[in-house]
Amino acid sequence: MTATQRRERTIMARPTKSSKPAECQACQGTDLVRRITTYPVHLAGELKGKQIHVGRVALYECQSCGHLMPTAAGQAKVDRNVNMGIRLFLGQLH
Ligand SMILES: [Zn+2]
Repeated sequence: MTATQRRERTIMARPTKSSKPAECQACQGTDLVRRITTYPVHLAGELKGKQIHVGRVALYECQSCGHLMPTAAGQAKVDRNVNMGIRLFLGQLH
């Protein structure tokens, strides 16, 4: 294995535990479970009332109130999908 391959493997295997939130942002509960699930995003402004469902997002679910908190990687995927969804919606509107 070359040094470059070894470095890439290390990056791929980087643990994501550090991104786990200490407590729920909604109820301050600490019983959070990591899940891969669909994350609904409510749009605002011009697209108020519309929702984008982003599939298979890595996130933490609060067991007390059900609040969903995407991980850093999950949030990046949500942002990409929402940007694409907004363009789609705007394309239909105009
Ligand atoms: Zn909660």
